[in-house]
Amino acid sequence: MRLITILFFGLAGLLLLTSLATPKWGFYGHRRINRMAVFTLPPGLIPLYKKNLEYITEHAVDPDKRRYATRHEAVRHYIDIDHWDTYPFKKVPRDWTEALMKYTSLHLVDNLGDTMVLTPDPLPGKGESKNYMSLRQPDGSLAWSISKNHYRNFFKANILNQYYEDDWLIPCDSFRVLLEGYGSSLDCQSVFAKDHFSEYGILPFHLIVMQNRLTTAFRQKNVNRILRLSAEMGHYVGDAHVPLHTTENYNGQLTDQIGIHAFWESRLPELFADDNYDFFVGKAEYIEDPKTYFWDIVLDSHLLLDSVLSIEKDLSLTFPPDKQFCFEERLDATIRTQCPEYSAAFHDRMNGMVEQRMRDAVRAIGSTWFTAWVDAGQPAFHLMRASKPSTAELKEREALEKEFKKGVSKGRKHE
Ligand SMILES: [Zn+2]
Repeated sequence: MRLITILFFGLAGLLLLTSLATPKWGFYGHRRINRMAVFTLPPGLIPLYKKNLEYITEHAVDPDKRRYATRHEAVRHYIDIDHWDTYPFKKVPRDWTEALMKYTSLHLVDNLGDTMVLTPDPLPGKGESKNYMSLRQPDGSLAWSISKNHYRNFFKANILNQYYEDDWLIPCDSFRVLLEGYGSSLDCQSVFAKDHFSEYGILPFHLIVMQNRLTTAFRQKNVNRILRLSAEMGHYVGDAHVPLHTTENYNGQLTDQIGIHAFWESRLPELFADDNYDFFVGKAEYIEDPKTYFWDIVLDSHLLLDSVLSIEKDLSLTFPPDKQFCFEERLDATIRTQCPEYSAAFHDRMNGMVEQRMRDAVRAIGSTWFTAWVDAGQPAFHLMRASKPSTAELKEREALEKEFKKGVSKGRKHE
């Protein structure tokens, strides 16, 4: 069975390489760093993970497969942070509610069918208090001013709670309460809200969600859930270490470097990691402040972006053009990919960057697992094993594989 699984994933991996979807860190990289993260764990925790080493390794790529099952998945793997601001990205709230609130518009449809768009503006203008939010018309004029706390409560109760719904509809009565003084005279047929934030990626916010889920699973001593969430957490932490997961130019499409995403995170590790990288990175560390920790990973990744792009650009202009791309046979497929010499030149010029990011990822993954365990009170696991997966779990896995095999990615394709 395992052989079949490996063959299947091997084939699927190759198919992905040749088609438009490109797996992150490659499937190879995700599996490798999840596996190595196990060896950062302390004696109280390592037996649980060692016993399930194959599971932690194989399921490192589940989140990528889930991209084929739900449109909500893709955005969890990246954040195009340079869409919003420049380093250090002060305009992007680090808190999920604040970020979504800032970039969600309200649309008020009146009885004649006309729509008024309102954009909340948390930045105080002249003469306004920072405790107030302004609802502005599309032309920038002030429509209404609301206390920030009031707006946040409204947002949580009416919008945030329907994040996974297709449409965010708000009852006119709730909107009237929000606009208190404006009140009963408001001509309202319907109100809906529109998310302008998530499409540019929510990776650091999702890491916090995952950390909380994992901590809860540890508290409940739910071994199956711990393993599943740990494997998936490893995936997202891995993605956060990839510079090209933090930019709108995620595949070099804006700088005429299409394919650089897979070049950096799949091709290079596949060529060089096994023989040259040292994945023994020391011990997992307790994370005092997960939110800052996750954001720092993303910011560090982003700081490397300029080098990744400029080094490859420079190389592509000086390296013999006919020696940059080669055709390689893999099983039954012929794929076009960067030549080994060209890859080696890129790898050398980056001076250990890919290895360092993979090492950082290994340690960060171990640290998130370790932190969840500590926060849950360090429950003992040395005698516990994963139970057989439940029928519901098996069904879910089956559905995931089915969607994955169909191969229609929902959401962004190239990262
Ligand atoms: Zn991913």
